[in-house]
Amino acid sequence: AGTLLQNSMSRNQSLFERAQRTIPGGVNSPVRAFRSVGGTPRFIERAEGPYFWDADGQRYIDYIGSWGPMIVGHLHPEVLEAVQRSLTSGFSFGAPTEAEIEIAEEICRLVPSIEQVRLVSSGTEATMSALRLARGFTGRSRIVKFEGCYHGHADSLLVKAGSGLLTFGNPTSAGVPPEVARETTVLEYNNVGQLREFFASLGDETAAVIIEPIAGNMNLVRATTEFLDVLRELCTAHGTILIFDEVMSGFRVALGGAQALFGITPDLTCLGKVIGGGMPAAAFGGRRDVMAMLAPLGAVYQAGTLSGNPVAVAAGLATLRIISRPGFHDDLSRRTERLVAGLVEAARAAGVPFAADSIGGMFGLYFAERIPKSFAEVTQSDIPRFNAFFHKMLDAGVYFAPSAYEAGFVSSAHDDAVLDETVARARAAFSATAS
Ligand code: PMP
Repeated sequence: AGTLLQNSMSRNQSLFERAQRTIPGGVNSPVRAFRSVGGTPRFIERAEGPYFWDADGQRYIDYIGSWGPMIVGHLHPEVLEAVQRSLTSGFSFGAPTEAEIEIAEEICRLVPSIEQVRLVSSGTEATMSALRLARGFTGRSRIVKFEGCYHGHADSLLVKAGSGLLTFGNPTSAGVPPEVARETTVLEYNNVGQLREFFASLGDETAAVIIEPIAGNMNLVRATTEFLDVLRELCTAHGTILIFDEVMSGFRVALGGAQALFGITPDLTCLGKVIGGGMPAAAFGGRRDVMAMLAPLGAVYQAGTLSGNPVAVAAGLATLRIISRPGFHDDLSRRTERLVAGLVEAARAAGVPFAADSIGGMFGLYFAERIPKSFAEVTQSDIPRFNAFFHKMLDAGVYFAPSAYEAGFVSSAHDDAVLDETVARARAAFSATAS
């Protein structure tokens, strides 16, 4: 009976069972476990262009793109060649290379608010280091983040709002000391009045405000221009460092990131995902006087064995070169808009309350009447219907993010045929979830 059961199980199922014996929850990052949508996670074997294939040989149109990095599609020939060339010269040296200068120059050129930049290996390291730097530079401890924004899993960022306005934060994870969480204040995204109120009382003791200027970790939610303008103004007036976390939006919503779209100059910027082209690379950078506080020049310590890893830098540089070509982002935006317009029309035809938004190569799908403007509004969307839609699409070979609180990603490898196939599948999926 055991053998029979074994045989009737899909490879994904048996891999998931095996994974759970040696890996907590069977995954190395929680959202991969399908906890919120239910069902068996797909174990991926290979990817190419807009597709990946799972352990049962099923092909999926990939709308997570490794959660952002794969903006030119999987195994792009130019990126692949750059990685292969780099690999044959050695994997890691722990000493500087010319390619690190090249990528730093490229980042400073593409994102003009960045006068100097340091490479790290993950977005978490980038935000954690940027915060330490802001605290070192200002000599202040308090920081501000916004509800629904995710900035990686450093202690001071795994914090939710306390009860009532302008109170101290509470940990959202066990293991974060309350003393650490208390130094973080969590405010509402797009709430200008609350922001002003906070700065009037605590602005002068606040080291930094960190924000996703286009949020992609509570589904896709845009900051309003007014909100970001006021934030910039208040940070300048109070000597508070404004950190734009563009780990997701950087190079994706526009070549110069969200800051280029809004015309706002942050003091520091965090980058990740696209700058590694699918290899582990991220960065933080900004004002020269602030960056000069970093070791070995200044008193703020920050380091990394694999920082500026040559293979990751090669993948990142090749990716940045491709997306810097004229028209890349216009074309990417057009593709994403085609997808989103098709999905909205398909939902309307099926009579399902649905809205969608996109900026550059990033999109949000909401089972709601309107596009949300805050975390609270996102929580009011029809999550069970999203989950049903997700599984219908998955069964039909389309892999959307396995959570109603995540954004989606289109690459330059998603051509019209792929986008239209997605919409055709969605027609059936919306109808099936309509009742
Ligand atoms: N900031 C933002 C805006 C992110 O989207 C993420 C990851 N999704 C991070 C930081 C953390 O990056 P990483 O997972 O590479 O640590």
